[in-house]
Amino acid sequence: MRLYNTLTRKVEKVKPLQQPKVTVYTCGPTVYDYAHIGHWFNYVRMDTLIRVLKANQLQPEWVVNITDVGHLVSDADEGEDKLEKGAKREGKTAWEIAKFYTNDFLEGMKLLNISHPDNMPRATEHITEQIELIKRLDKKGYTYIIDDGVYYDTSKFEAYSDFAQLDLEEQQAVMRVARNPQKRQPADFALWKFSPKDAKRDMEWDSPWGKGFPGWHIECSAMSMKYLGPTIDIHSGGIDHVPVHHTNEIAQSEAATGQRFANYWLHSNHVMVEGQKISKSLGNSIRLKEIIDKGFSPEVVRLHILESHYRSQSQFSWSSLEASKNRLQDLRALASLRWQPRKVSHDYGTGALEDVPAELLNIMSEDLNTPQALAFLSRVSTQLLAVHIEGDMVDHFEAMIRGIDDLLGLKLSDIKDISEEQKKLIGKRDEAREKQDWEQSDKIRDELASQGVGLQDHPHGVIWFPL
Ligand SMILES: [Zn+2]
Repeated sequence: MRLYNTLTRKVEKVKPLQQPKVTVYTCGPTVYDYAHIGHWFNYVRMDTLIRVLKANQLQPEWVVNITDVGHLVSDADEGEDKLEKGAKREGKTAWEIAKFYTNDFLEGMKLLNISHPDNMPRATEHITEQIELIKRLDKKGYTYIIDDGVYYDTSKFEAYSDFAQLDLEEQQAVMRVARNPQKRQPADFALWKFSPKDAKRDMEWDSPWGKGFPGWHIECSAMSMKYLGPTIDIHSGGIDHVPVHHTNEIAQSEAATGQRFANYWLHSNHVMVEGQKISKSLGNSIRLKEIIDKGFSPEVVRLHILESHYRSQSQFSWSSLEASKNRLQDLRALASLRWQPRKVSHDYGTGALEDVPAELLNIMSEDLNTPQALAFLSRVSTQLLAVHIEGDMVDHFEAMIRGIDDLLGLKLSDIKDISEEQKKLIGKRDEAREKQDWEQSDKIRDELASQGVGLQDHPHGVIWFPL
């Protein structure tokens, strides 16, 4: 299997350190508000990575953290802690906010059929590990203390600008205006922030440097190392993490251990909503619930996400979601073929059925090419529409559908047969159509639709499927 590695800017063969085990860390949600559609693109894509690893007989160990403290509103370590901000907004404590939005996130994961990670550690439950890591950096001379916290001195880490190919001089010029004047370099970042003297925080802990809370970046290094070791195989997250969060994770982790932090870095590209960047102020940070409330199933959302490649800038729009809905119906019609007689039966060997998931895996193993995988599946669907699935083909057909589900997570195996009553109605509609009684045929179609049964008329007969 091959992936585009941000570290080398190349598509590379994945060689895990301890095959068949593959360690994967994904930067998780900051639980101060609802996840929006852009976040879900990221997590469905990372789930696809896990599914493709598994299908390649590898054993991924997947950690997704929960950021429930320390992520500040500004990337420059300034502004409020997002959790405390959320608490003020809702008149709750930061702890209540974290709990509520963590649960909401977990529910969203379940709805979108995202595999459950092996571990979802919370930053607030790993304060000791974070303090220990800062102590190691302190001992090695990478830190300094200013009024508001303990900072990492990026000038001490020679390779700091390599990962994101940063132009530090340019950054210096841009950030000079807003920078904290006590910071030695604009890129220096907080490892530990002190609690404000004039206000009480909901979340704060004692440390060797004073009462406060950890910076955002240190949690990922500390938890990745704790659960997966000093060097992991794949680290992933949104592309916006490259210049700051992931650059800082590498700097602090590699300074502490003297070892490579992650061998492969996988980044999910930006998502635009109706052609615009997602932002609170534009009011386009669409929630999963809003989409479902408009009549789109979570599987439609998932399929829509799979329709774009994770490395391309993707578009979310209501009209394209409508197109995904139609595409999902085609796939559901395909999965329903096992129960319906076809008038014409073309040859389609059982071996060919087994080849479908294998070919799908081949395509997806090349840098998770989901759009090409779906195009392949559309071609297969068209061919299979003319095939009568009978006898020993049924088992092979069902295995094929399961194989497709393992990779795409669209729950096609869950589709159930319709009732005998509904089948009789379809028979009556066929009769009406033969008599060219279109009024009656439409009436029956509407009746079936109201019962959740969709119909597609093909040259080889009608195909029904659960909507
Ligand atoms: Zn992270």
